[in-house]
Amino acid sequence: MDALRDLYQDVILDHGRQPRNFGRLVPATHHADGFNPLCGDKLHLYLQIDADQIIRDVRFEGSGCAISMASASLMSEALKGKSLAQARALSDAFRELLTAPAAPPPAASLGKLAVLAGVRDFPVRIKCATLAWHTLQAALAEQSEAATTE
Ligand code: ZN
Repeated sequence: MDALRDLYQDVILDHGRQPRNFGRLVPATHHADGFNPLCGDKLHLYLQIDADQIIRDVRFEGSGCAISMASASLMSEALKGKSLAQARALSDAFRELLTAPAAPPPAASLGKLAVLAGVRDFPVRIKCATLAWHTLQAALAEQSEAATTE
């Protein structure tokens, strides 16, 4: 189990150091800012959603700790090609993975995102991991106000 945990941390470090889909997306149909004041993590999320409500592209810019960047990077990979309904279900499953009182077994739909399950053992870092998802919800709701984990 320790080896498995090490592997998970490697994935987090890899995505934290070299975030996938990092950069500006133009044109974007949806976008939102996110901020986690507890840690100082900031990100700006861009989505390209087509007329069939499929997420065609995802990019983000920002700066923050390895957990926040890895979570945004893994989320960006997971969302491409998903319908909005699938994206919302994924968001719910991810939040439950980190915040449900009893640790649930990771939903199969989470795929690589399950590597972040270990964050639940570090409560102060949970908002780092959920920032990207709060920002996704803000982007999908097309809220003009910035998302915050507070
Ligand atoms: Zn953080």
